[in-house]
Amino acid sequence: MQDNLESVKIFRQKYREEKISKHYYGWLHFTLTTILSIAIISISFFRLRDVQSLEWLTIPLTFLYANIAEYFGHIGPMHHLRKPFGLMYQRHTKEHHVFFTDKYMEFDSSKDFKAVLFPIVLVLFFFGLIGIPSWLLLYWLFSSNVAWLFSMTAVAYFLNYEWLHFAYHCSEESWLRYIPGLKKLRQLHLHHHNQKLMSRYNFNITYPIGDILFGTYYKASTKPTNQL
Ligand SMILES: [Zn+2]
Ligand SMILES: [Zn+2]
Repeated sequence: MQDNLESVKIFRQKYREEKISKHYYGWLHFTLTTILSIAIISISFFRLRDVQSLEWLTIPLTFLYANIAEYFGHIGPMHHLRKPFGLMYQRHTKEHHVFFTDKYMEFDSSKDFKAVLFPIVLVLFFFGLIGIPSWLLLYWLFSSNVAWLFSMTAVAYFLNYEWLHFAYHCSEESWLRYIPGLKKLRQLHLHHHNQKLMSRYNFNITYPIGDILFGTYYKASTKPTNQL
């Protein structure tokens, strides 16, 4: 039913009226997300001093940790209503997945960026609530280089997540289609926006490492285990 184009159009109109202020500027939101992230990545990078070979391992380990956290954050609270994370469920399953379906994946205008990008307040909240304690713990347990490599990689991962998810919801015909690999990743996310598949497959928004590891990877040529 929700796949029906008309019902998506009606939901979009209602969402815009109720959730998007006339003072909201999508490109400003996108730019602030980008500048804030690049600032933290740069500060972290320029604080590195004489990095030892073992310390460089922080980059792949943080990348893998972020990918698995993205997977479990998505398959868990974003798709299942759980008490302290009710807002995540509401924003994702009840809004993002109704605003965008596999039949209607694209933004109509920059106002619609609100239905994809994390609110800046929430980003600052997570950076503070998770980022700072993690940084302090790594500094205390290992070294300042490990802590800065962690903040650099984690924020770069977050920005990559935002950019990729944003790109998936841009027009299929935009110049973005020339970015190597993007078409394939977009296709995986498109399947996730099929309402019959969304609670079972393709929970990584970025790279499908978690999906491959935990058996929830689905591409069109794959035959899912049961009913489609
Ligand atoms: Zn999406
Ligand atoms: Zn989802």
